[in-house]
Amino acid sequence: MRELLHAIRGPILNPLPDAGVEYFPDGLLLGDDRGRVVAVGGWNDIAARFGLDAAAVPQSLGFIMPPLLDAHIHIPQHPIRGHFTDDIGSAPAGGRLLASLERNVFPAEGRCEAPAHARQVVAGFLADTLANGVVGGAAYMTVHPRTTRLALEQLPDTWSVGLVLMNQNCPGYLRTEEASLVDDVAGLARDFGRRLIVTDRFAVSVNGPLRRCGVDLARRHGLRMQTHLDEQRAEKQLIEKVLYPEAASYTDVYARDGLLDCEPILAHCIHVRPEEVAAIAASRSAIAHCPVSNTLLGSGVMPLTTIRAAGIPHTLCTDVGASPTTSLLCEMAQFLKVHAGDTAEATPEEALRLVTLAPAAILGLGGRIGRFAPGMEWTWIDVASFLAAPAVTAREAILEGLLGMSEAELAAWRGADDPRVAAVGRLRREGLDEGPHLALLEADVRATAGRLERRVRQVVSAGRTIWKETRS
Ligand SMILES: [Zn+2]
Repeated sequence: MRELLHAIRGPILNPLPDAGVEYFPDGLLLGDDRGRVVAVGGWNDIAARFGLDAAAVPQSLGFIMPPLLDAHIHIPQHPIRGHFTDDIGSAPAGGRLLASLERNVFPAEGRCEAPAHARQVVAGFLADTLANGVVGGAAYMTVHPRTTRLALEQLPDTWSVGLVLMNQNCPGYLRTEEASLVDDVAGLARDFGRRLIVTDRFAVSVNGPLRRCGVDLARRHGLRMQTHLDEQRAEKQLIEKVLYPEAASYTDVYARDGLLDCEPILAHCIHVRPEEVAAIAASRSAIAHCPVSNTLLGSGVMPLTTIRAAGIPHTLCTDVGASPTTSLLCEMAQFLKVHAGDTAEATPEEALRLVTLAPAAILGLGGRIGRFAPGMEWTWIDVASFLAAPAVTAREAILEGLLGMSEAELAAWRGADDPRVAAVGRLRREGLDEGPHLALLEADVRATAGRLERRVRQVVSAGRTIWKETRS
C-alpha cells in the first residue's frame, strides 16, 4: 500500500449534493498525506484500484460519515443545558422562553464576563461538542467583546461566534457597551474575519438604533448576522403589538432595519405568516430549525413543508442550553418525530443531510466538509451502530443504526392512537405551556437525549485524530 495514504474501511454514509445519501455497507474512504479525500466508494473497487492490503487498513463497524455542524448554539448556556426551564413555574406569564431567559439564562451569561470562567465554559463546550461529533457551527457568546475574542481564539476555525447585542429588556449587567461597539467589532473583525457574526439577540432585547448600527457594522466589515425569529407566540405578540406596533410583522422588524440583507441565520421561524416566509425566501437568509428546543420550550413546530416549498436553506441545530444535549443525533430523531405527520414526511436521509451537508453550505464550509468527494478534507466521524448486523440501505443505516429507532417506532408518530401524536398536534396548533402533553414529550426527548449522547468513537479532521473515545 502507498505510504502516504490515509484509509478507513467500514460502512460509509455520504450525503449527495442534489438529493439523497449514498451508502456503502463495506466502504473505503481514502485520503492523501495533505489530509484530502482521494476516493470514496465500495471497498472492492477502491482497494483493487489502489492495490490496498486489507490487513493494513483500519476497520470500523460503526458508521463513517461527515462531521456534524451546529449552526445555532449558545456557548455560555452549555453549563445549564437541560436546566434551561428550571424553577420557572407552571405556565409563566410571557411564556416559557422569556421566563427561562430571566430566571436561568441571563445569570449564566453574566457569569461569563469573568475571563477565567469563560475560558472554562468554552473548553467544556469544545470537549463536549467534539465528543458528540460536532466540529463547527455558528454560536452565540455574550455581550462581552473580551469573552467573544476568547471563544474565537479557543475554538477551531470551523466555528463562527457572535458578540451578542442587547440594550433593552435585559439585565443591566448584560447590556452592550454601545460607546465602544464600533471599535470592538472592528478589532474582532480584523482578527477573525467572517468567523465573527454580528448577533442581534432578538427583537425583544435589541432596539432599532442598535440593530441598524449592527447592520452597518456587518456591511462595513463584510460580516453576516444571526438572530432569533418567531419562536414563541407570546414573544411574537410582544414584538408585534407592544414593542414594534408600526412594523408589519416580526420579520418586518428585521427586514426594514436591513438585517435580512446580511445573510442572517434565523433561529426557529415557527409562527411565520405567508408574507414573512416570502420576505425570508427573497433574502439570503437561512433557517436554524431546532426541534428539541421547540418541543421542550413548548414553542411549536416549524412549518417544514412551507419552508421546503419556499426553497429557504435550513439546517438542524440544538439551540443548547434549551436542548439538554449537544448531540445532533438527538435533533435528527426529534425532527423525524415532530414531522412524521407532515404532508411530505421527513426522511432519515433528509435528517442526515440537515446536520452535515446543509449546514456546511450555510456556513461557507461546503468546499471543505459536509460530504465526501475527492479534494474535500479527509474529515470524518465514526459513530457506533445500534445494529448487530450490517445495515443494507441508507434509510436503515440512519434510522436504525445511527438513531436506534425502528420503522415501527417511527410509524407510531404517524398513528392516531399514540398520545404523543396528540401532544405534537397541540404543540403545533397552540404551543404547550404546561400539563400532561408537555410532560409526555419532555420525558420522551430526555430519554432520547440520554440514549443518543456520546455515540461517537472518533473524530478525524484533515487526516488528524482530534478526538477519540477512551473506554474506562
Ligand atoms: Zn437560541
